Amino acid sequence: MARLGSWIEPFPEGIYVRPADAWIDPSQPKERALVTHGHSDHARGGHSQVWATPETLAIMEVRCGPQACEPVAYGETVRIGEVDVSFVPAGHVLGSAQIVLDHAGERVVVSGDYKRRENPTCAPFEPVPCDIFITEATFGLPVFRHPDTGGEIDRLLHRLHSDPQRCVLVGAYALGKAQRVITELRRRGHEQPIYYHGAVERLCRLYEDLGVSLGEMRHTASATRQEMAGHIVIAPPSALNDRWSRRLPDPVTAMASGWMRIRQRARQSNIELPLVISDHADWDELTCTIRELAPREVWITHGREEALKHWCMTHQIKARELNLVGYEDEDD
Ligand SMILES: [Zn+2]
Ligand SMILES: [Zn+2]
Repeated sequence: MARLGSWIEPFPEGIYVRPADAWIDPSQPKERALVTHGHSDHARGGHSQVWATPETLAIMEVRCGPQACEPVAYGETVRIGEVDVSFVPAGHVLGSAQIVLDHAGERVVVSGDYKRRENPTCAPFEPVPCDIFITEATFGLPVFRHPDTGGEIDRLLHRLHSDPQRCVLVGAYALGKAQRVITELRRRGHEQPIYYHGAVERLCRLYEDLGVSLGEMRHTASATRQEMAGHIVIAPPSALNDRWSRRLPDPVTAMASGWMRIRQRARQSNIELPLVISDHADWDELTCTIRELAPREVWITHGREEALKHWCMTHQIKARELNLVGYEDEDD
């Protein structure tokens, strides 16, 4: 009998699904690509044909231009070659999906990036029992335990209100994290206008077009220094220490990322207010998900693979590291 999942082949540039002649999140242009979500380390332009959720395709169009696309809504199944393929919510960013592959009586689930905790900007992760679970492991070390998001948002608001002459400049990735921080602020009752850097504008607009309301947003370019005092400004992390920020009123520099759990990392980037807000599963979410799905095998990619592999082995679950390349943490 063939080895479990012998029809799925990991290559450095992505996961190849042989009976569909298609690649998952390939880092090189391919004929057929199945894309889990819109972050640039997963969704590259240049494929001949792309299967993804309608939201992911809309995000790809904003970021990489028009795609030859095959939209697949959550819950829909399409046949590609000899494989039944469906997209199931991953709870990571708007449109993010796990890809479920059924072939030859075996089910393989590719998690893409995922998280289990609630996110007001996207559909929650749906557990799908499977034979092989191919999981990410961005925060695959026991040191990574993300705190409650509401508590982090409260720290941000407390800091904002304690010094109304200053603004709080929050570094957040343009796709997903920026919109999540904004909606979490709204949930905590923050109704003031939020200012944004131009680099997050198009994706904020797209989220709104796709039904995620962000409240009153204003462009920093059309505001005076005085107007921005006592307000929150959202910008991509790359803008935190550049010239652009000089026009802000004495900003308190914050950053929303799972990596902020590592103090040294916050200090190195001159972050005064580190906020541990992540769009990835932390250690407990990774291990609880594997326990819940109880797959016959776990294949691990995208991060700290060894510790999670070790955990699987001590729990009598067969595990393997995939060592794909080209995945960077755009989206932590
Ligand atoms: Zn990723
Ligand atoms: Zn991602």
